[in-house]
Amino acid sequence: MHKDAAAATFFARVFYGIMHAFILLIVFTYDNDLKAECDNFALPCFVFLGLKTLAIFLFFTIANHQSIVSNSAELYEVSWNRPSQIFCEICQITLGFRVKHCKKCEKCISMYDHHCFWVGCCIGELNQARFVTYLLIESSCIWWVFISSFSGLVEGTEGYGAFVVAIALTVVFGVLVTSLGLFHFYLVSTCSTTWEFMSRHRIEYFKPYPKNVNPFNEGFFTNWKNAITRRHVTIWDLPQPLYIYPFDWCDNEYWTCC
Ligand SMILES: [Zn+2]
Ligand SMILES: [Zn+2]
Repeated sequence: MHKDAAAATFFARVFYGIMHAFILLIVFTYDNDLKAECDNFALPCFVFLGLKTLAIFLFFTIANHQSIVSNSAELYEVSWNRPSQIFCEICQITLGFRVKHCKKCEKCISMYDHHCFWVGCCIGELNQARFVTYLLIESSCIWWVFISSFSGLVEGTEGYGAFVVAIALTVVFGVLVTSLGLFHFYLVSTCSTTWEFMSRHRIEYFKPYPKNVNPFNEGFFTNWKNAITRRHVTIWDLPQPLYIYPFDWCDNEYWTCC
């Protein structure tokens, strides 16, 4: 990995640790619902701690499931005028479709989504579902702390100021993590990536298809099943475009409204 990217990940992880320690210290020091449940060994406390442990575990293991492509993937059987494949000068391999070189990882990544400094690797084909799961579990923990902090927000008590800070922090991180989680849930559900979603107009292998068609989308359940069960990177091929696509009203063969 590039040394700047490694340094960014180090600082991101230190920040992650400090934030967790700070917020959990507030929650388990001053009186609030979550602390009361833990003091009484009630079930919600164990559910919260279980989710939090799972979130931390996922956060630190996403980088163990990278989607590195190390071999050339030439597709020879060309039955139609398929877009040509790209050669990565750095890795010295012919890239399959949906593979992109990451300058921070210094590797080619299958279904490149983005490079995440927090988890210290690229999100790609083999860790996209794990990344979404992490984000959604982390979201639920953040909003749990957010709600519980209100129960401790009693004016004149010791923890009042601390809970104001906890609420402010959980709102900021809650909105960020939840929106990222929901966006990636959508991407996995449609077998897409942030890179493809944002840059579709300049990705060569999408050119043969109308802009509302994702040739890799196999439907919600199959997309999720594949995202969860894949253990090796896929050599993606492109299906021959159909002559007639189910164009929608705004985007048809003859004109487009936008
Ligand atoms: Zn490369
Ligand atoms: Zn990367």
